[in-house]
Formats: sequence, C-alpha cells, structure tokens
Amino acid sequence: MISVDEALEYVLKHFQPLEPEEVEILDALDRVLAEGVYSGVEIPPFDNSAMDGYAVRAMDTAGASSEAPTTLRVIGDLAAGYTTDVVVEPGTAIRIMTGAPLPAGADAVVRFEETSEGLSAGERAGNWIGIFSQVVVGENVRSAGEDIHKGELVLAEGTILRSQEIGVLASLGRARVRVIRRPRVAILATGDELITIDEPLAPGKIRNSNEYSNAALVRRYGGIPVRLGIARDDVEELTAKIREGLAQGVDLFLTSAGVSVGDYDVVKDVLNTEGEMHFWQVCMKPGKPLAFGEIQGVPLLGLPGNPVSAMVSFEQFARPAILKMLGKMRLRKPTVEAILEEDVKSSGRRGFKRAVITKRDGEYYASVTGPQGSGVLTSMVKANGLVIIPEGIRHKKAGERVTVQMLDWPENVE
Ligand code: AMP
Ligand code: MG
Repeated sequence: MISVDEALEYVLKHFQPLEPEEVEILDALDRVLAEGVYSGVEIPPFDNSAMDGYAVRAMDTAGASSEAPTTLRVIGDLAAGYTTDVVVEPGTAIRIMTGAPLPAGADAVVRFEETSEGLSAGERAGNWIGIFSQVVVGENVRSAGEDIHKGELVLAEGTILRSQEIGVLASLGRARVRVIRRPRVAILATGDELITIDEPLAPGKIRNSNEYSNAALVRRYGGIPVRLGIARDDVEELTAKIREGLAQGVDLFLTSAGVSVGDYDVVKDVLNTEGEMHFWQVCMKPGKPLAFGEIQGVPLLGLPGNPVSAMVSFEQFARPAILKMLGKMRLRKPTVEAILEEDVKSSGRRGFKRAVITKRDGEYYASVTGPQGSGVLTSMVKANGLVIIPEGIRHKKAGERVTVQMLDWPENVE
C-alpha cells in the first residue's frame, strides 16, 4: 500500500499548467492571468471631486467657521461627466458633484455639509455660498493617477482573477484578457448495477450518483466536465466509451468503480489494454482502491466506486491536478486545527472523517457526522470538513487536536 502523500506526489508530476487562451473578462473569473497587465492610462484620468460640494481655492477658506463663514460667489455648476472652461478666481466657487473634474483655479472641495447649501433659498443670498470650515489644498480631491499610473504593472502574470481584478481590467478598458484555459475532464461511471438518473429503480440496480458528484466537483474547481455516462462491465462497451471520451480531447480522464485490487474486474483489464496503468491501494479510508496512469497520453484517475470514497479521493487527487492545470500555485486544501468533540476510532490508514466544524470562543471544534460508511453519501451532505486521522493512529480521544480539511472554504484561504 502506498501513502496518500506518495500517490499525490506521483500523480501531480503528470500535470502541468495548460496553455493560455483569450477570453472576455467575465469568463476570466477565478482563473489565472497568463500575461502582465499594464495600464495605458492614469486612473483616475483627471483630478476630480470626491464629494458633492464646492470647488474652491483653499486659501479663500482660511479661518472660515460656522460662526464666521466666508462667502464665495458661485460662478458655475458642474456635474460628473462634464467639463467647464470657467476658472475659479479668488473669491469664487463652482458647485460640483462627485466625480466631476476639478475646474481650473480650484485646488480643494468644501463638502455641502460645511456650507450654507442646506439653507432655504430665502436664507441664502443670491448666487453666494457660505463656507463654514476651512480646507487644505487637495482636500476632497481625487488626483489623477492616485490609483494607477500610466505604464504601471497593475496585475502580474499568475494572479488569480477575483471580482476586484475583473473591475480593474474594465477600468483599464480591457474587454478581453489572456488566462490559462480550463481543463476538460472526462467522467465515466462503470458498473452493471448502474442506471441513469431518470430510469426507474429495478431489482439490484442503483442510480449513477458518482457522475454527478464528480461533474459538480470538476466544475467547482474550474474544469469543464465531459460526461460520458455509464459503461457496463463489458470489454467492448468500456473500450468504446473510453475511446469516445479521448476523441473529445480531454486533459484528464476520471472513471469510477471497478478498480479494487484483488477481484477480477473488467475495468482494470480494459485500462491496461488501452493505456499504461498503476493500480494502487492507497493507505486511506475511505478510498483505498485507486488507479492512475495514462491512456493515449491522457492522465487517467480511476476513482473507487463507493460514493464517499469517490468524492474523498477526488478531493485528494483530482482536485489538485485540476488546480495545477489551471496554473494555480496553492494546491493544498484549506485546513484548520480543531478540537475533537468525541472519541474517534480509525483503521490505521489515513482517515478522512466527515465532520461538522464549528467555531466557539476562538477555537474550532469537530463533531463527526454519524455513520461513516463509504456508501453513506449523506455523511458528506452533513459535513463541512474532513477530519484527518494520521496513518498508524487507531484512536483519537475527545479533546485532542486534529487537522481538518475544510470542504466549503474558498480555495485561497491559508
Ligand atoms: P466497485 O468499486 O465497483 O467495487 O464499487 C463499489 C461500490 O460503489 C458498489 O457498491 C457500487 O455499487 C458503488 N458504485 C459504483 N459506481 C457507482 C456510481 N457511479 N454511483 C453510485 N455508486 C456507485
Ligand atoms: Mg463494480
């Protein structure tokens, strides 16, 4: 039996970041930038008002207070999106809205709240405005280039694009951007007992749930699922399905079931005939049987059939492979240290116990989610974490600390 760490290291050697493609920026969300993005402009492009107020010469406001306001003559009104040729001369002001360019002559903005703006028309003298507090040069002004300078490297190659990076790309006028392309992942379920999602149950049959949990995981981690349905435990049918998948141009091939070591399995025979495979027993529970190899140059992971084993194995091996192909650097699942809420038994293999993790008084606590059978998919449904019981350990007591892989956390949390 090989360890989880050995298996993972070997698997990951067979994956490299895929080539870039150009996409619309919204399609670049969560993907890895494959170019350095430089700015062709200053952002903001011009000095502008950060507030609704009056554009003034700061000197003119010296000593102003609500008791002794300074009065300035209003010589214009400027909304965002417009410019003016009117110059703010000493003793004058221009009424200005947030985002409007600062007029020539002005060097600061007094907020409406600090002026007689709120007074009724009767209380105000014609086109004069009372200034209730003094401002310094630059106050309430956003200066050109304060966010981004022309020529600056704004986003480095390798950046994972989040909503804020998409926004910055838009402000730079970049409608399209180069990112690492998404891997296409073939998903093939195998087994005579399987029926499709919409077939009525029949004696001895179960629905093919692995196709859906696997496809959902592929999508969650940024890949494109290529669903091939079910192949019976039959040499011709399996061979045909595998070739059909390969013909669709995939970067990773996932099969489920039929790879347990020991029993005679058609899947193993076909994979051996079509490619070069290793069949492993990985020292983990759930998920002992695992196949890995290449068929016609495409890496293939043969996941175990049991639904929980398939998902846990996917998280340990297929997930990091997909992330690596996407050009991501952080391949480790986010983990926390938690305190066990009850005694837990383990097999001596690396255990992945489905658990509910809660935080109380600054500590994480882990409570295992009932029956842990590798077919009990609701143990995953209830869980938000996988408690890891290290190899060689058969018993962990309530109160002991364990490492937990967080199932639902964003992938960039350390
Ligand atoms: P195997 O790896 O072929 O020994 O299968 C182990 C268990 O997983 C058996 O109980 C199978 O019925 C079950 N199983 C296999 N494939 C699927 C699937 N696609 N969806 C749900 N359960 C499955
Ligand atoms: Mg089987």
